[in-house]
Amino acid sequence: MPNAFEEARKLKGKDFHEFLVAKGVTLACPSCGSDALAIMADGPEDQLHVMAFPIAEPERIRGNQAAMLALSCRNCGHVRHFHAITVVDWKEGRHDTPEG
Ligand SMILES: [Zn+2]
Repeated sequence: MPNAFEEARKLKGKDFHEFLVAKGVTLACPSCGSDALAIMADGPEDQLHVMAFPIAEPERIRGNQAAMLALSCRNCGHVRHFHAITVVDWKEGRHDTPEG
C-alpha cells in the first residue's frame, strides 16, 4: 500500500481534471450551480494542494490522516473534497475498490 500523501504529491492539476472528467463528476457547484470551479493547485502542470483530514482513531495502523484533494467554487467558495488515493489508483490503473 503506497503512502497516500507521497503518491498524491506526484499528481498534477491536469491529472485531477482528467480524473473528474473520466468519472463523470458534475462540474456544476452543488451549492450555487456555478460552473466556475477551480482545482486547488498552482496550475495544470503543477502539484495539487494535498490536504490532511484528521481521523479520530489514533490507533490506526496506516496513520490517522487521510490525504484529500479539493475542488472549489469561484462564485460561492463551496469546497468539495476527494479522497486522493482514489485519484492515485485511477491514474496508476488500479481500479479496484480500496477497503474502507
Ligand atoms: Zn458555488
